[in-house]
Amino acid sequence: MNVCVIGAGYVGLVTGSCLAHLGNNVICVDIDEQKIRALSDGRSPIYEPGLDQLLQTGLQRGYLRFSTELASSIRESEIIFIAVGTPPLSNGKADLSYVKTVAQEIGRALDLKHRRLVVNKSTVPIGSGNWVEMLVKEGLNENLSLAKQEDASHPIRRQDGTKGEEIFMVASNPEFLREGSAIVDTFYPDRIVIGATNNFATERLRALYEPIIEQTFTPPPSAPRPAGFTAVPVVTTDLASAEMIKYAANAFLATKISFANEIANICERVGADIKEVVRGFGLDGRIGPRFLNAGVGWGGSCFGKDISALIDIAAEYGYDPSLLRSTVEVNKRQRHVPLYKLQETLKIIKGKTIGLLGLAFKPETDDLRDAPSLEIARQLLEMGARVKAYDPIANELCCRQHPDLKIEYAGNVQDLALDCDALVIVTEWEEFRYLDLNRIGELMRSKVLIDGRNVLDPDAVNAAGFKYRGVGR
Ligand code: NAD
Repeated sequence: MNVCVIGAGYVGLVTGSCLAHLGNNVICVDIDEQKIRALSDGRSPIYEPGLDQLLQTGLQRGYLRFSTELASSIRESEIIFIAVGTPPLSNGKADLSYVKTVAQEIGRALDLKHRRLVVNKSTVPIGSGNWVEMLVKEGLNENLSLAKQEDASHPIRRQDGTKGEEIFMVASNPEFLREGSAIVDTFYPDRIVIGATNNFATERLRALYEPIIEQTFTPPPSAPRPAGFTAVPVVTTDLASAEMIKYAANAFLATKISFANEIANICERVGADIKEVVRGFGLDGRIGPRFLNAGVGWGGSCFGKDISALIDIAAEYGYDPSLLRSTVEVNKRQRHVPLYKLQETLKIIKGKTIGLLGLAFKPETDDLRDAPSLEIARQLLEMGARVKAYDPIANELCCRQHPDLKIEYAGNVQDLALDCDALVIVTEWEEFRYLDLNRIGELMRSKVLIDGRNVLDPDAVNAAGFKYRGVGR
């Protein structure tokens, strides 16, 4: 199929590359010219395991192209994905300005050659599907009235007798990929959700995803099919429910982590170990062990903004979602936990050198949006500490995106440890699980290790002569 993906960010780029791997003709459009240039040269602007390879083979086989030209890209496509950002506004609402611009531009670009499907993949407040439909229609009507005044070569005059409203349909297809395993998540998702009001939309999307639903495609070398993975459930529903499914999923996952952190804070006070406690209650089939890791809290581009948006939607309808507000509150508090632990062990923070192990909001990504590391670094700097940091991938991006944060960036763990009074594990990158504690201890001014992700064995760290503090243990 001919597919246009608008917005070549974490979601759009992965979606486009994976759909091209399935043999679709995909054109990814973005307003960022530099990004499009890099992508056209086969260079990914983001770090995502397996993406470079998909990108390059997609380009070589001619199934994947990149452009800044929205109108022509739309006209050559039958399915048009909207995958632009919906970042949070300061009042907690989702900023829909990018979606609005794109929806209007789609309307203005549509011709009447054949019916097209506009698919919203961006995470948007409930009702946005209907709103996008209205905006596309407005753009289309503008285009139709313009066409009346112009000559017959105008793209929307080539086919007579088709009413503007019928020439496009809007569907919701929320995205559930996780950065760091986005390719695997796209090829082997837990489910595909399709929200639509008509069969045309549902059938087109089902047809597009058929190789994934039936698992008939040849996996790329970077994302082999998991053993026993044979089919993907499809949830077809109405637009509002599809939009709500995305918010509910993120709100639940964030709540699960905040719940684990709440229990961890109580564990710490009563002398229990959260790791043991989670092992015990996570084995309950109704609960499950995943997303129960206590630590410095969740971050990233989605959880915070999506819960804020959901709280805002609820408030708009006169409902106070107190559980969701608590989820956010617990998470905010959790980001202070490393600071309390540093105060407890070092007493004076002013003038001390603190090394942060990890900056990205989670391992295997370079994404720093709402990363706990930023808040922790900011607080330490405000308290008068010297802050060093090492992230295997995100050092350079952090330096570029946050020039205000006076962090000293280290090239590896040992450079980081040099002259530090304490180290704090902020992101659970794999390499931090295997620290050479003896060597690190020799380089540090005092041997204090705050394990903000509970990845180390406290006994081993203590045995190496460190003061170890985990979260909830
Ligand atoms: P992103 O910021 O990485 O990418 C958005 C892209 O859209 C940018 O490259 C930007 O230049 C481009 N853009 C903005 N306006 C445009 C326009 N008018 N025309 C063309 N391109 C335009 O965002 P993302 O992380 O990919 O998220 C996209 C959406 O998907 C958001 O709604 C997000 O909530 C949702 N989502 C994200 C994730 C994730 O892990 N990142 C997971 C699931 C859902």
